[in-house]
Amino acid sequence: KVLERLQKVIAQAGVTSRRKAEQLILEGKVIVNGNKVTELGTKVDLQHDEVIVEGVPLEKEEPIYFLLYKPTGVISSVDDEKGRKVVTDFIPTDKRIFPIGRLDYDTSGLILLTNDGDFANLLMHPKHEIYKTYIAKVEGVPLREDIKKLEKGIHLEDGRTAPAKVKVSRSDKKKGTSIIEISIHEGRNRQVRRMFEAIGHPVMKLKRENYGFLNLKGLNAGDFRELKPHEVKRLR
Ligand code: URA
Repeated sequence: KVLERLQKVIAQAGVTSRRKAEQLILEGKVIVNGNKVTELGTKVDLQHDEVIVEGVPLEKEEPIYFLLYKPTGVISSVDDEKGRKVVTDFIPTDKRIFPIGRLDYDTSGLILLTNDGDFANLLMHPKHEIYKTYIAKVEGVPLREDIKKLEKGIHLEDGRTAPAKVKVSRSDKKKGTSIIEISIHEGRNRQVRRMFEAIGHPVMKLKRENYGFLNLKGLNAGDFRELKPHEVKRLR
């Protein structure tokens, strides 16, 4: 559920200003799911709750789905208290979109954004098991047995990881670095970085190439596109 303060929802629906919306609420002119609401800050979800302002129902926001090629140096959030760039800064829309899951500040790559809370919850549920593929540049040249550990599942402080698909695409013995493709379907905090740390080959650079069947073809860092209806359907 995407819960937001009632006065904000009313203002964003374009009915009136935030201040006027607050007045209307206090005056008892706002009905939520059949009940008069006079408390400011009551949380509602426009996709599920029916909001009526002075007798006029607010339009439910049409669901919308975006794919963004997140650059590094961007927070996977809708706002940042330190004023850093956030993923929603890249997508001009009046809709209240938010990222589905997160990529680290220093990680680039594919991230989905939507205003559809149900869809986001569905995709983030562990049962859904969508494989995400990352390209990692790591320190050193991992041994075959280290790679096997990642493939089997490795012990991290928050438990054992599910089996991963791992492919070493390149090793530069002189520079002492390797490029490794890894696919996982879990989404724990800093999981890929922690997995490589656990085998003694810290990640220097990380990019998410794929999210299920979706990829970044034709996009540069900072670019975005809307998902096509058949893509949304296929992810469900
Ligand atoms: N794993 C990580 O370590 N970082 C990310 O951003 C995504 C997956």
